[in-house]
This record gives sequence, structure tokens and C-alpha cells, in this order.
Amino acid sequence: MEAARFEVKPYPEMWESLDMDVPRFDKARQMLGEVYGKMFMSQPNRPEKMAYFDDMISEIFGRRIQEMIDVKKEGRPIVGTFCVYIPEEVVVAAGGVCVGLCGGSPGSIPDAEKILPRNICPMVKSAFGFKVGKICPYFQVVDFVYGETTCDAKKKTWEILDRLVPTHVMEIPQMKNARDKTLWFEEVKDFKTKVEEVCQKTISTDDLAAAIKVINNKRRALQRLTKVRASSPAPISGKDALLIEQIAFYDEPVRFAEKVNELCDELEERARNGEGVIDSSAPRVMVSGTPMALPNWKVHNLIEAAGAVVVNEESCIGTRYFKDLIDENKSTMDEQLDALTDRYMKIDCSCFTPNYERIDQILKEYKDSNAQGILHYSLQFCHTYNIEEIKVREACEKEGIPYLSIESDYSPEDVGQLQTRIEAFLEQIRG
Ligand code: SF4
Ligand code: SF4
Repeated sequence: MEAARFEVKPYPEMWESLDMDVPRFDKARQMLGEVYGKMFMSQPNRPEKMAYFDDMISEIFGRRIQEMIDVKKEGRPIVGTFCVYIPEEVVVAAGGVCVGLCGGSPGSIPDAEKILPRNICPMVKSAFGFKVGKICPYFQVVDFVYGETTCDAKKKTWEILDRLVPTHVMEIPQMKNARDKTLWFEEVKDFKTKVEEVCQKTISTDDLAAAIKVINNKRRALQRLTKVRASSPAPISGKDALLIEQIAFYDEPVRFAEKVNELCDELEERARNGEGVIDSSAPRVMVSGTPMALPNWKVHNLIEAAGAVVVNEESCIGTRYFKDLIDENKSTMDEQLDALTDRYMKIDCSCFTPNYERIDQILKEYKDSNAQGILHYSLQFCHTYNIEEIKVREACEKEGIPYLSIESDYSPEDVGQLQTRIEAFLEQIRG
């Protein structure tokens, strides 16, 4: 597939049936295809197995949506989520689909700003705007959404979003003491009950055990991808790796894991042969911070356009999503849910206090990925990541790690300024 010919395929009749604003969405579809063609298809020496992920983007508003419509017709649940704390294993155990609805596009923000305040995180505004403007087929196909209480912008938005789509909320505690675990465990149980209500099916221990294996395997495949990126020269670009991490929130999990593993076979072969997408002298950057929801490729694009390569994402669309697995050897439902809660409690989001684990994890990933510098990325108005950045910076100073912190949104306005700062940062790494 050449850059000029890349197309995100149109499915106007299907979108009409989902009550979407079809003319407007069709323009967004065309733009996404153009941007994708320029940004991804023009990369030199791409792994052949990226073809599956290109095809996934080409069909992202069509074939994948049709698959979800088919699941729904069978009475199985489609659940939309906005955070990696919502346990997708429970939805998969019910035979359903869990889909990430975080917004990564500036196009829907004006819709949100007609209702929500302007000075909140762009991820929340983008997601909310997709529903208000009826310009996201995933939002239109879900049975219900499950929000959480991780940040103020989100938890208050759920109250307003509930007017447009049934919205339930999981209370995520802000500390990790024994009593917080008790609360969390109860919240996970409530989530299971809600999913069971929608699909009118009781989830058995066998169902949950199978689902835990499926999602563990998806996470294992992503761990394998992360590991091979530590090779020098880098066998895959950071943009392609980020894309795969983003697709993890949309694709069917068994197929996705299979395709990531096929890609890893190719990348490991490249690593053995000393082949890469860029010369081994290119600066290697680790990106840490807030998640980058599809199609937020801004920072990776700037870093790689400046001649460096991104080798790791310490983020929820990155290692925070897949670094921990669930114990597969539990037999009763309570034991399984307890193991599941334990795994989810290991996620080191900045919404927790204290959150020392994240700093240790960043330093570990920096070493494991053979990175040469850390770029901390925080979305505008994300207070927890913006403030936790102080500790990340201090840790990098202590360890002598080249470091750059940026705060950005989805608009192209700061691209010039970011480019200058990123180039100076890369010069620092080059020494
Ligand atoms: S950054 Fe925190 S709130 Fe956002 S998806 Fe990750 S865990 Fe959830
Ligand atoms: S990036 Fe920060 S402010 Fe935005 S939704 Fe996530 S936790 Fe909330």
C-alpha cells in the first residue's frame, strides 16, 4: 500500500444505521486516511507484518464495527471504557467486547466545549465531543460505558455523559491500603454484576479463567514487542509500536495477539540480523506520561521526524496497560476476582498517592529499553501527571538521564515550539 493510496474505508449505510452524523464523519474519515498515509506509509524499511495493522486502520470504521454489531445481535455486551482500570477480562468472560473510547483527536473538541468547560484535559473533551457530535461509530455501538473516578474531569463528565449514553462509574480509590483493596474488590464485583445484567448471563469460573488467559496472552504479546524494541538498531519505529498499542484497545484480542506475535517473529529475526528501521546511531527516546489515544501521534512524529527513534512508552497506551498479568491458577470466583483486583492495583497511575512505584518503573523501563533520554509527556490540565512530573524530573537528574518535559494538547499550534525543544533535547543526547 503506498502513501497516496491509503484510505480509511467508508461504510455510510452502516453509520446511518448507528444514527451518526454521516457527512461530517465522512470528512474526518478522509482526513484520517490522508494523515495516516503521510505519517505511516512513507516510513522506510517498515516490517512486512505491519500490513495487518495498516489494514486494521483502513477498516477501523467498517469491518471492526460490523464485528461488534454482530456480537451485539447475539445478545453479547459491548462495553466502552476510558481507563485501563476497568477489567476487560470480565467483559470477555461474558462473550462481549470491551472497547477503549478515549479521545485522541482535536476534531471533536469544539462539540465538547459547547457544554463542558474549556480548561479540562483534551482527552476527556475529545471523547465527550465524539458522543455529542455523533461522530464515533464505537461510541454509537456500545451498550453502555463504564467510567471511573481517576480524575475530577472524568468523574464529573460521567454525570453529563449519562444523558447521552448509559454511564456507570467504578470507584477507584486513591490510595493502596488494605481497606482500599476491599473497596476495589467490591467495585469489580459490581462491574461483573452489571455486565451480567446486560447480557443476561451468569459468568462462570470457567468463563473468567478463559478470559483471563485471553487477555494475559494479549498482554504477553505486547510485552514481547516491547522487549524486541530494546535491540539496536531499533527493528520497528516508535510510531508503528504506538499504533499497535492503540489498536490493542479496539481489536479482537485473540486475533490481535496472534498478529502481534507474528510481527515479533519478524522483528526478532531483524534483531538477530542487525537490521533496523533507522541507523543504530539515532538517539533512542523513551516517552513517559499520559496516554496517547488514537490518533494522537503528534509527539512520536516530531521525535522521529527529527532523526531519533522512540523505544518505549511508559503510559496507559503502553507498558502500564500490559506490564502485569493476572494469576491464572485460581479456582473459585472470589479467588479469581481477588487475583484480578491484585493485578489492577499494580497499575501505577499518577491518580494514586503516594505513587513511588511509578518512578521506579520508569527507571527500570529506561534501562530495559536501552533508551538514552526520557521525554515526559503530559496532557494539558492533567494535574496529577503534571505534578508527578516533578518527581520524574528529580529522578532523572539524580540518575544523569537526559530529560525533557512537555505539556501539550491536540492542536497543531505548538508544533513549531515543540519541534525546537525536541531538537535541542536530541542534541543533548547526541552530546
Ligand atoms: S492515565 Fe490513569 S486515569 Fe488515565 S487511563 Fe491510565 S490509569 Fe486510567
Ligand atoms: S490524562 Fe489526566 S486529566 Fe486527562 S483523563 Fe487522564 S487522568 Fe484525567
